[in-house]
Amino acid sequence: MKSISIFGCTGSIGTQALEILRQNKEQFSFDVFVCNSNTDKALEIVNEFNPEHIFMSDVAASNKLKESLSSGTNVLENISDVIGHLKARHSDIYLSAISSFDCIELTILAAESGNKLLLANKESLVVYGEHLVNISNRSGTKIVPIDSEHYSLMNSLNNIEKNDIDRIFITASGGPFIGQPLNEIANKEPKEALDHPNWSMGDKITIDSATLVNKCFELIEAKYLFDLDPGKLKVLIQPQSIIHSMVELKDGSVEAQMSLPSMIIPLSFGLLGEYSAKAKNNFSLDMFKEDIKLTISDFPKDRDKLIEISKDVMRNGGNRGLIFASINDFAVKKYLQGEIKFGEIYNLIFKHYSEMEKKEILSLEDLKHNQSEILEYLESF
Ligand code: NDP
Ligand code: MG
Repeated sequence: MKSISIFGCTGSIGTQALEILRQNKEQFSFDVFVCNSNTDKALEIVNEFNPEHIFMSDVAASNKLKESLSSGTNVLENISDVIGHLKARHSDIYLSAISSFDCIELTILAAESGNKLLLANKESLVVYGEHLVNISNRSGTKIVPIDSEHYSLMNSLNNIEKNDIDRIFITASGGPFIGQPLNEIANKEPKEALDHPNWSMGDKITIDSATLVNKCFELIEAKYLFDLDPGKLKVLIQPQSIIHSMVELKDGSVEAQMSLPSMIIPLSFGLLGEYSAKAKNNFSLDMFKEDIKLTISDFPKDRDKLIEISKDVMRNGGNRGLIFASINDFAVKKYLQGEIKFGEIYNLIFKHYSEMEKKEILSLEDLKHNQSEILEYLESF
């Protein structure tokens, strides 16, 4: 039996993981579940899975949960309690699926465990990637990427010598505004931006997909996960979300990894530790039965500046990823609250990324300190 802790248990990734765990309950014991404020869903999950501990970041929500709990699950009061508990007893598997780099200390703790970390939370790699990967390498923690492009790359790179690679392409669906120039989408409403053509995901990543910032985060994610040369990493638009990545070898031949757009495939591999036949039953591409059209086009030129920023993050490290992710977080929250227009997200990133002070991040303390400096700076405008 494997013990598992899930950070972000009520979200889109967390819920899909629970769907797989529900079908394999006898193989798992449930250790610490973490979420923010969704008491109703947390209560449902606790009643069904009976984890030993639950932590909700939102204090009012946590108190409400405590009043309604009838099971033996212990409600942890604060993040230090979560850390204390997980340090005293490691889980075999951790799923990091919180929607921003809040609670990054939990992902770091999982990386220190020497066990298995299913890493959906790409923001933690963007802001702390080099350290997170070094920590995992030192402790022997196996990271399984829970991101369709990186899961597919993991599978390709298992069989390819790095020296034989010329370029690596990560694909983007293009989101709901595919093919539309920046000036035409500047006033798009959140309702439209949240209407993703291929994926059903949490709000933050869905907006990041609409702006294409998600793909820039994914370049950084790929660099750190697989120790790749930033110069070889490219993005292409693949509107059907069937080709997730392509690796071009030196002789011009290209290996593409394909599957239907489903997070159940990488999650099943991560949770069950094998390529799951059940995942195939539900999400077979059935290439020979269906008439599948695959198209590929270039990343939109008017968003090249985003790619330049990700290259700068990958080449120069330090707090650059934190600056990029923090401005984006700040802008997406404001957009979703109706305080700024869609186009303003780009303006805020382009303006402030170059202006903010670049410095080294050597520890979690540095990260937290710089994060509050960046927020203070952003709020002063
Ligand atoms: P959701 O918004 O659906 O879920 C977010 C989860 O994080 C919820 O459980 C939420 O709790 C919890 N959470 C948010 N803030 C906090 C906090 N401060 N403390 C504790 N818990 C918190 O996001 P997704 O599942 O879509 O995405 C999760 C991560 O996975 C992101 O990093 C995303 O980029 C990545 N990812 C997602 C994919 C997808 O298909 N969804 C694909 C690839 C990567 P509550 O519900 O209580 O608010
Ligand atoms: Mg992805």
